[in-house]
Amino acid sequence: MNPRYAVFATVIAAIVTTACSPVPDDSHAPKKSQSPPVDASPQDAFGAERQLAANALTEDRIIEHVRALSADEFAGRGPAGEGDRLTQAYLVEQLEAIGFQPGATDGGWLQQFDLVSIDPVVPERWTFAGDAKTHDLQRWDDFVATSGVQSPRVVVDNAEVVFVGYGIQAPEFAWDDFKGQDLNGKVLLMLNNDPEWDPELFEGERRLYYGRWDYKYESAARQGAAGAIIVHTTPSAGYPWQVVQTSWTGEYFRLPAAGEPALHAEAWVTEAAARELVALTGNDLDALIEAARGRDFEPLPLGITTSLSLDLAITRTQTANVIGVLPGGDPQLADEHVVLMAHHDHLGIGEPNDAGDRIYNGARDNALGVATVLGVAEAYAGLSQPPRRSIMTLFVGAEEQGLFGSSHYARNPTVAPGKIAAAMNFDGGNIWGRTRDVTFIGYGKSTLDTVVESVAARQGRVVVPDQFPDRGYYYRSDQFSLAKIGVPATYFDMPADFIGRSAKWGRQQFEAYEAVHYHQPSDEYDDSWNLEGHLDDTRLAFWVGLQIADADELPRWVPGDEFEAARMEAINSLD
Ligand SMILES: [Zn+2]
Repeated sequence: MNPRYAVFATVIAAIVTTACSPVPDDSHAPKKSQSPPVDASPQDAFGAERQLAANALTEDRIIEHVRALSADEFAGRGPAGEGDRLTQAYLVEQLEAIGFQPGATDGGWLQQFDLVSIDPVVPERWTFAGDAKTHDLQRWDDFVATSGVQSPRVVVDNAEVVFVGYGIQAPEFAWDDFKGQDLNGKVLLMLNNDPEWDPELFEGERRLYYGRWDYKYESAARQGAAGAIIVHTTPSAGYPWQVVQTSWTGEYFRLPAAGEPALHAEAWVTEAAARELVALTGNDLDALIEAARGRDFEPLPLGITTSLSLDLAITRTQTANVIGVLPGGDPQLADEHVVLMAHHDHLGIGEPNDAGDRIYNGARDNALGVATVLGVAEAYAGLSQPPRRSIMTLFVGAEEQGLFGSSHYARNPTVAPGKIAAAMNFDGGNIWGRTRDVTFIGYGKSTLDTVVESVAARQGRVVVPDQFPDRGYYYRSDQFSLAKIGVPATYFDMPADFIGRSAKWGRQQFEAYEAVHYHQPSDEYDDSWNLEGHLDDTRLAFWVGLQIADADELPRWVPGDEFEAARMEAINSLD
């Protein structure tokens, strides 16, 4: 995970206690008395073989992959380095060995893409001019800024500053903060998050994509704006100003520009700084915030102008997504794909820790997720009767720098998005033992709910939703890139309710781990890992994937979901 996307990864889901009794030892076997069998498809004759395949998934096999990928030789799998090359080669070798076919459009295994590294020089002062007075914001204390434009020098020249409320256009909520005004070349001052005081609006407290900073900048760029300034408050961001400071300072990465609209200045300011800016011309931030709460809000020019120039040092590197396919067994459905995805990159070689170790091995993040996908893929490949739909393994690169491999894939899908049945993403995993719960980020968004529920029930487990819906975890890992092009997608987060442990135990383990090992050279495999619970999750993924691949119908978003329109478009654009 990229810290910019996973700011509160140190805080896990609240402990959820359930009424269900501890899972008996034979819980891996189907319990027909509890719930219908998972294989309710015409291929049911092969159910016994499938059960054998699920049982054949072992901790040893997962550990083998984790050990290989997190070995020092792989140099932390940083994008574009020797470790990246070794990682790609390992994945290709494994996919070939289990009988998958190359899945990139050129007939090979690799979907290469460029990564642009940008190191900005940001002025220490940013000046805003009202009619009579000017006000300077200080870099770091008051503002941070980057640019969406990839050129050596970008300039915002004497642009008018306009307050645009939340900066949201959401037809499904009859909400448009821009009201057709011409915002070309302007700098837009905007509130973070999405309206959350009304359960009928933007799903209340749940943070939708409309409430994320990346949406805000994209939305402003679509208006032709020169820049956008997001007003930071801790409640609306979900994290304090320090996190904004560190995440938005120094070198950052982007995919190469592909002609999409981009902002010259992408900035954040503190609430106090925003207050001082709007006060320059006698406006009051609280009054502006109040006005922004209504559907009838209109953009308000603040009577302020501003200029800003940034010098950008730009370099390019290259990495790749590794894609394999197991063709589906049903000629009618084989052109549709179920995607199993995991990011193969990690942080590479970096600052040494106290022990002098400079290799960020990324065993849990995300050799473990990659091993999970390889394990499930191998189980599918061994079936004499393959699933009806095709299975795609999508190992994406450059996740840690900002979900770039999955974003590149979403821009250049190897299969029409309307033909991707669903995606399951694996990032990290449970190394502490068996649990009664499955934490499903994205629970409540699509018909995948019932699939996951039925499989979890068969394991004697319960599905619980994201425990921090206001933090927008769904938008912070690679499944989000596929959801954006309409694909119903799941991400299973850390469960919390560990069998035989106190209610707080799981949270304590996870917090202790995150404090010491998260994005550190010590994220290494060791014998203390208990993968029994992770094996349950891996088997769950096996069955969920099968059920999606074999179902007569494609999964659907729930009506009115934020990604439903993208799905409709994807399906309608099929020949
Ligand atoms: Zn990760």
